[in-house]
Amino acid sequence: MITRTMQPVQTISLSADGNDSAPDQSWQSQLSGALRDPGALLSAVGLDERWLPGARAGHQAFEVRVPQAYLSRIKKGDPNDPLLRQVLPLGSETQTVAGYVTDPLEEADHTPAAGLIHKYAARVLMIASGACAINCRYCFRRHFPYEDHAASRAQWHKTLDYLRDDASLIEAILSGGDPLVSSDARLSWLVGELDGIPHLKRLRLHTRLPVVIPDRVDDAMLEWLAATRLQKVIVLHINHANEIDDNVIRACDRLKRVGVTLLNQSVLLRGVNDNIEALRALSERLFEAGILPYYLHVLDPVAGAAHFDVPDDEAQRLHDTLRDCLPGFLLPRLVREVPGEKAKTPVQAHHTSSAP
Ligand code: SF4
Repeated sequence: MITRTMQPVQTISLSADGNDSAPDQSWQSQLSGALRDPGALLSAVGLDERWLPGARAGHQAFEVRVPQAYLSRIKKGDPNDPLLRQVLPLGSETQTVAGYVTDPLEEADHTPAAGLIHKYAARVLMIASGACAINCRYCFRRHFPYEDHAASRAQWHKTLDYLRDDASLIEAILSGGDPLVSSDARLSWLVGELDGIPHLKRLRLHTRLPVVIPDRVDDAMLEWLAATRLQKVIVLHINHANEIDDNVIRACDRLKRVGVTLLNQSVLLRGVNDNIEALRALSERLFEAGILPYYLHVLDPVAGAAHFDVPDDEAQRLHDTLRDCLPGFLLPRLVREVPGEKAKTPVQAHHTSSAP
């Protein structure tokens, strides 16, 4: 087991002209104040010390990070709470399990420049930040060498040149880590540069921040989103209906008002959403928040996350049943990432019946 931590959370406050500025915004305080100690997590969620040795061991492999706004949605005293299970480190994370590796998607083979992953046609993924507001135990990038991809300002210019030189690109995807950990000054500059590349049509962000700290969706963020000519898609990452509280719904509403299309991808996780009731409630709740279910991923076999695995047969059966109880537009596609494939690979169902 390789021990690593994501980059320390710090909002990157490099402005367009290279000057530092550090506006003290409330989401930033929430970000830096996220709970980062396994003992403090157990005490906050009302679990006793029997959990501590395992939590410490898991924390050594991938550190705990849970912001207060997410913590407040966890039911106290319930070790099986579906939100807690996503963030609680366990001793089993340190066990070696055959087939579970540190780079399950082999992303290291698709990095033409620091901070850039180009493996799909017409779109590139830019690592805008190596930090996250929350550390999800099943994260397929929990071992990703973000330190090797922490692009300097000069490297960002190289990355942008790469995008300018490839006229086949129509979509830039900001990912991470979580791109919204970056400051609005930096994001505004970056999106402005992307805006000036004529063949780009779309800007996509993959983020969990509006879910785990809804206050991240503030006026400054809405300003650069509203200003770009690019079509805007935000792919959120929500695995359980309980993650969507009224604050999340308000944040989504603000994003929609500046023309953002909201999609969701989730991961099928043992003990979190591996039953029909949870999956159906998730799709229904997403739609209440104005978010369309997009993908339901099977787990990427990342070292430390084997306890979340749901076998393909079971995943297919769940998806088949889900198809029978949801309208088609609320049915996420059941997919997996296969290293080297040009697109997500559908996990085939045993039988097909069409949702109306
Ligand atoms: S927010 Fe996303 S990138 Fe960050 S730890 Fe969670 S799953 Fe991984």
